[in-house]
Order: sequence, then structure tokens, then C-alpha cells
Amino acid sequence: MAKNNEYNKVSVLVVGAGPAGLACAIQLKTKKPEIDVCVIDKSAEPGNHNLSGAVLEKDAIHRLLDSAVEGWQDSDTAKDVLGKKVKKDNVMFFLGRKMSFNIFFIIKLAKRLGLNFGQMIHEGDYIVSISKLTKWLVQIAKDVGVEVLPGFAAADIILDESAERSVGVRLVDQGVDREGNKQPNFVEGEVINSSFVVLAEGCDGLLTEKFIEKAGLQRKSPQLYSVGVKEIIQVSSEQYKKFGDDRVIHAMGYPIWTPFVGPGMFGGGICYPVEDEHIAVGMIVGADWKYCDFNPQDALTNFKNHSFIKQFIEGGTVVEAGAKMIPEAGFRAVPREPQTGSIGKANVLILGDSAGFVNMLKIKGLHNAIDSGMIAADAIVENLENPESAAVRYTELIDKSAVGKEMESAKNFRQTVAKFGPLQGMPLSIFGGLLPKFDTEKDFEAMTIARYRLKPNQNFDKDTFTAVAATEHREEQPSHLTIIDSEICRSKCTPMFGSPCITFCPAGVYETIHDEVEPANPSNCLHCKTCQRKCPFDNIRWTAPEGGGGPRYKRM
Ligand SMILES: Cc1cc2nc3c(=O)[nH]c(=O)nc-3n(C[C@H](O)[C@H](O)[C@H](O)COP(=O)(O)OP(=O)(O)OC[C@H]3O[C@@H](n4cnc5c(N)ncnc54)[C@H](O)[C@@H]3O)c2cc1C
Repeated sequence: MAKNNEYNKVSVLVVGAGPAGLACAIQLKTKKPEIDVCVIDKSAEPGNHNLSGAVLEKDAIHRLLDSAVEGWQDSDTAKDVLGKKVKKDNVMFFLGRKMSFNIFFIIKLAKRLGLNFGQMIHEGDYIVSISKLTKWLVQIAKDVGVEVLPGFAAADIILDESAERSVGVRLVDQGVDREGNKQPNFVEGEVINSSFVVLAEGCDGLLTEKFIEKAGLQRKSPQLYSVGVKEIIQVSSEQYKKFGDDRVIHAMGYPIWTPFVGPGMFGGGICYPVEDEHIAVGMIVGADWKYCDFNPQDALTNFKNHSFIKQFIEGGTVVEAGAKMIPEAGFRAVPREPQTGSIGKANVLILGDSAGFVNMLKIKGLHNAIDSGMIAADAIVENLENPESAAVRYTELIDKSAVGKEMESAKNFRQTVAKFGPLQGMPLSIFGGLLPKFDTEKDFEAMTIARYRLKPNQNFDKDTFTAVAATEHREEQPSHLTIIDSEICRSKCTPMFGSPCITFCPAGVYETIHDEVEPANPSNCLHCKTCQRKCPFDNIRWTAPEGGGGPRYKRM
């Protein structure tokens, strides 16, 4: 690849080295070794920006590996990354700080009855670190001849004059100071021209959302998000042994919803083994929460203090942490071109979380990300001479695939819970596809002056959280977070809601300085983009900072 600001040309440019983008690149090179495929990622090193639970379903990853790497099962990396399988599948309901009920038998019964809830069974799935999985997939991609470029952040997608197809992608400018002045080392963002552009940026992708707007793609339902906060805790060997390396815990109820008295939020807690003496705990909360003083990290604190979880982690040390959003609204929120229904348009294909392929019945998206990547590769290979037809073909294949079927089966779930709340919405969602389409508001519109009843006494220690996320940005660059209109903060948000961004940003980016709310610490940013989706006045925008900045996850 040439240096910045030279015009380059590749056959296929993939934006985002997550499971979706890498699966696409690997499959492409395996099927058509002669085409040039380039994957760019904004992280300094592969895996640094990838955070997940993660329970990984087998089928898609096996198909990818089977076609790309002979005898992959025998490699040390495979044994490390895919070395744990779920045997004990704890699906818990927490009632208050102490009571817990294992409701796995209900999920099993639901499966037997053919109800959607039966999908929540994870026995036999892998328990993985997505950072490690990503690193491994990058190595496989390189081995089959893909050019993988970490430290390259994409700023925009460029369309031709007719806005009918993309001609490539522009990278972020380098060497600009905080005020936006060009420094002696200034390098204008390179334009990478490409016959196909694959958008695999994960949740709330910067280029994806720009492309949706520029190319006139539409969603039938607004995208809804959830915020996931996660910690890896070093525990004693006794605690780890007691937990076991084949158990996963998914918990609903306290502390994000309790029957009748509230709070009433969607989501739940997770607890997975990581490696010897390390256990991951996480809390995933639907971003349509209404409490102006709520912070998902407060819910994580409560979850960790629940007696069922506490026994495994009490006295432990948090050694890694991070936050990321998940797209929740399902099939109806997949962005499509209105005339053809394509997920993307012409030579631009949208994959994985960028498209919204997460099944919220089980909060799982990795298998769909990988599958959509392979399907995109197949569609591109079929249309090498005719790039304008790739997005339509990709969509035909997706709609017929396991991804399409699974997303269809879960299509009303999140909207039903958003409409009726967890108490009525969860049982109602049993009727799945038989339910009508419920209209939902955007997450930021849900904010009220109500307060989170279970707020812990102590403020969450965001400094330590951010320190162990190891996030870093070059300080002398313009803030990649912008408050569009400060007057809205002054006259509306602060008096009404008390500036919720200061509370909910997991990295403490926002502060009040001389009575003004500002993104005072952009270098703390974890790239979760919660602020952009939860500011109650839709008054914050996230853009990509210089490549290489951001968290440095190793085992997330
Ligand atoms: C807390 C949590 C728990 C989860 N648990 C599970 C689970 O147990 N099982 C499961 O199956 N799924 C789970 N998921 C969902 C799963 O992680 C996602 O569905 C999956 O990671 C999507 O893969 P992806 O490749 O589409 O996106 P990502 O994994 O997000 O990868 C996107 C990549 O694009 C890069 N990128 C983004 N923008 C740019 C840009 N402008 N320029 C350059 N690079 C860019 C990012 O740095 C990143 O590397 C969970 C998610 C969270 C947050």
C-alpha cells in the first residue's frame, strides 16, 4: 500500500477488521486468490477495538475455518481461542440483591415447545475472547494473502456523481492540532479507490450511517442500541475452580428490572470464564432507559454485588475493562435500499453489526457477523465483472440464509419489549412473528426526569475503568466528539436532566468546565458511541479520531 494522500486502487476494500470484515476477506481470498483484498481498521493492533461476551455458536466459524485452513483444529491457536465449551448453561432470574432462580428448565421447555425463547440455549457453544479471535482471524487473513492495515481510520465513503455507487473511502487526516490547524507533519487523508466497498465497522458505523444517508437507504424501524460494559476480574484459584471453565451465566431481573416497583429496563448481566483465575462480568442495558441519572456501570456494580455473582469475584482485581454498543432493533432496522431492498447499494455491502445482524433473543451476533462476511464474499465473487449487482445478490443470499431466517424469527422481540416494558413485553414476545409491528421511539427520546432507584452510594470509579481499558489518543488532535449546540446543554439539558452524558459516558469524557458541558477528555474515549445515541437532545456527534487511537483490549 502506498503512503497517505496517494490515490490507491484495490479490488475490494473492507472497512473494519472485526469478525464480519475478516470473514469476508478470508473467504474472498480463499475463493479467488488472484483478487486484491485490503482490510483497514482504526485500532493500533488487531483485536484492540473488539469487545464482546462472548459465547460463539459453532457453525459459521467452522465453515470459515474449514474452507481456509486445512487441519485448523490441530493448531495451538485454535486450542487456545476455541478451547472452552459451554457445559453449564445458567440462565438466572435475580430478584433483589440476594435471591436467584435458575430458570434454565423454562428455556429448555420453550425449546421443546418450539417457542422463540428456546434459542437462548448455549450448551455446546464456544466461550471465546473476541480480541483473541480477531487476532487469529487477522493472521489467517494475512496467510491467505489479504492486506490487513491496522491504524487506518476511515473518515468518509465517497460516491460517484450519480450517488449510485461508491468509488472508495477517505481516511482520517493526520497531523492537525486541537484547533484544527495543519501541523508541519500534516498528511491529508488518503483516498483508497475500490471496485467494492464492504462496510464492516460494527455497531453504529461512521461510514455506514453516512452511506445510509447519502444513498437514501431506509430502515422500517429505528435502530435501537444497548450499551455493554464489561470487566475482566482476576480472582483466586478457588473462586475460578468453583466457577469452572465451562459455565456461562446469563442473568435477567435485578438490577435493571424488578417486577412492579421497577426499574424497568431491557438487558441483563453476563458472567463467563476467561482463562485461569480470570472471570469476565458484564452488564448489557437497552439504551432506551428513561432514568436521567443512570449509568450502566452502576448496574454492573449492583450485579457484581449480587450474592450469586459475588461468591465468584469478591476480593478480585479488575485487570481489563471496556464498553461497546450493540444494535438491537433486529430485522426491521436493517438498512435497505428502497427500490431493490438491498442491504447496501450497488457495489457497497453492509455486514455484521453495521447492518444490525444481532439476534436480541439471545444477544448474539458473532455467528451472524461471520456468516454475513462469507455471504458477502460469495456475492462479490459472483459479480466481479459486474460490481453494481453485488449488493442485490448479497441480499438475496442473506435473506435465504441462516442469518435471514434467524433475524426473521426474532423480528418483533425488541420492539415488543420497548413498547410494553420487560414485565409485559417479555411474555408477550412469545407470540413472535404473530405480533404486529410496534412503532418505537429512538433511544434518546426515552429520557425522562425519573431517577434510577438502585443507584449505588458510591460513584463508579471511571478512572480505573478507563486506565485498564488502556485507551490512548494523540492529545494534540481535534476532539473527535462534538457537542453540536452548547446552548441546548445550557438552557435545556442541564436544567431538565442534569447533563446525563457526564453520568453515562463510561470513560468520563464529559465534564462541566466553567458552567459549560464539554467533551473535556476525548483521549479517554472507548469508541462505544453511547453519547451519540443517548444524548437526550441528539446533540453529540462521534467521528473517527486519527488511526491507532482508542482502547487496547487484549482479552475482551
Ligand atoms: C458486551 C457485549 C457482549 C456480547 N456478547 C456476545 C456473545 O456472547 N455472543 C455473540 O455472538 N455476540 C455477542 N455480542 C455481539 C458481538 O460482539 C457482535 O455482534 C460482533 O462483534 C459483530 O462483529 P462485527 O465484525 O460486525 O463488528 P465489530 O466486532 O464491532 O468489529 C468492527 C471493527 O471495525 C472497526 N472500525 C469501526 N469503524 C471504523 C472506521 N471508521 N475505520 C476503520 N475501522 C473501523 C473497529 O475498530 C472494529 O475492529 C456482544 C456484544 C457486546 C458489546
